[in-house]
Amino acid sequence: GETWPRPERCRIISVANQKGGVGKTTTTVNLAVALAMHNNRVLVVDLDPQGNASTALGMERSPESRSIYHCLVEDEELRALERPVPGVPNLRCVPATIDLAGAEIELVSLVARESRLKRAFEAYDVSELDYILIDCPPSLGLLTVNAMVACEEVLIPIQCEYYALEGVGQLLKNIELVKSHLNPGLFISTVLLTMYDGRTRLAAQVAEEVRSHFGDVVLRTMIPRSVRVSEAPSYGQSVMTYDPGSSGAMAYLDAARELAFRAQSRVENQ
Ligand code: ADP
Ligand code: MG
Repeated sequence: GETWPRPERCRIISVANQKGGVGKTTTTVNLAVALAMHNNRVLVVDLDPQGNASTALGMERSPESRSIYHCLVEDEELRALERPVPGVPNLRCVPATIDLAGAEIELVSLVARESRLKRAFEAYDVSELDYILIDCPPSLGLLTVNAMVACEEVLIPIQCEYYALEGVGQLLKNIELVKSHLNPGLFISTVLLTMYDGRTRLAAQVAEEVRSHFGDVVLRTMIPRSVRVSEAPSYGQSVMTYDPGSSGAMAYLDAARELAFRAQSRVENQ
């Protein structure tokens, strides 16, 4: 197979957009699997109480399961919480459980509440990894702030539909706030257009608008709307393993290749 570069140091990427249903989880899971299949060592951190990334990666959970909640709220080590992803060597996942829904509130009273995930990464020794992908919840609360403080790069999936850019302004404002107060190195490295329907004029217009707004950070690859992509999670799989020949899998492979190869272009958010 083709060899993909490994980054010089671990790239920590938050996949964020406070709008639900835009493809954050699908993007996190499929990029992670694609990178792992190309010899990169990858950790997925599921930061959404819904736990959809954990489910899609085949993480079995019960009400007693330990999860990222125990790291954030009870200071448990990530190493004790991560698990291998079945069928995908090089890929591990720290799952989410529904406890995490309470974490937004519980974190408020804790010391260094915005940087608990960052501290956990420091204790982990991330130099053993090439990528950490953080699947953020659809909100801009303390969980997402923890992701933004712990990462360097933000990847924004944008669904190619009407109102696509609505709400993105709020996300950019929050990224700016975290950057100026808590994490000066934070930047938007990547925008990915998802659920693209090439038959509609609207999708093309939205893509055009997003490209003129964000410029070079938008990946050339767009993810098409594909039934196979939406079926895969119910089999506890990414579309990369569920149906590698499908248009969705090939698109995520291309997107992951771009992510791995492109020089990290830096956007100075205004
Ligand atoms: P988010 O994490 O932003 O809420 P998801 O990744 O869970 O979004 O995607 C929302 C829904 O759309 C899910 O049911 C998912 O399976 C489906 N979906 C995501 N990407 C695609 C795609 N390219 N084609 C078809 N369905 C998709
Ligand atoms: Mg999600």
